[in-house]
Amino acid sequence: MIAALKRAWPWAGNIAETVATVADGLGTTLGVWLKTYRTGRRTFTEQFEYPELPVPVAARYRGFHRFDLTTCIGCDLCAKACPVDCIYIGKEKVEGGKGFVVTGYAIDYSKCMFCALCVEPCPVDCIFMGATHDLSCYSRDGCIVDFARLPLDVAWGRATLNPTAVAESKVIVEPVHGGPNQPS
Ligand code: SF4
Ligand code: SF4
Repeated sequence: MIAALKRAWPWAGNIAETVATVADGLGTTLGVWLKTYRTGRRTFTEQFEYPELPVPVAARYRGFHRFDLTTCIGCDLCAKACPVDCIYIGKEKVEGGKGFVVTGYAIDYSKCMFCALCVEPCPVDCIFMGATHDLSCYSRDGCIVDFARLPLDVAWGRATLNPTAVAESKVIVEPVHGGPNQPS
């Protein structure tokens, strides 16, 4: 019918087509909205205790990292693999021995693009893409997360990486753990 109208009066056909297209889109939106009530779908905050607890995500989801300071050997392979140079590793040579003590492991999330290239080369499997899918902050400094100063549970991804933990980590001077080469 619109095609016939377009042939007879192109301007009227264009108007009819525009109205039909908009109505079609609104109908789809309305259908999804009504489905919420028909199926009793609960809201996000009713289903999940986020951000107190992590949200279930797909197995290969690439969220904010999980990092295990207790096994990191400070080899720099992850930082070298990062295409945007947003991993900053602080380390000190073990006095009178081999290896490094990791003193800082910061990722600048204003640069990170969640490509996961840092995960692949790690020889001790201590960095992974995690499940946290957002991180609010009020300043650019808040986007820089030093995993060496986060509580281990948060760094490991057992608890959500959250702005409060990140803010509290900013006033911690020493790393929470010295890593595998920690002097005993
Ligand atoms: S996910 Fe990609 S961009 Fe982000 S720190 Fe790892 S290598 Fe760098
Ligand atoms: S996270 Fe893995 S690759 Fe990166 S410095 Fe630590 S041990 Fe090396």
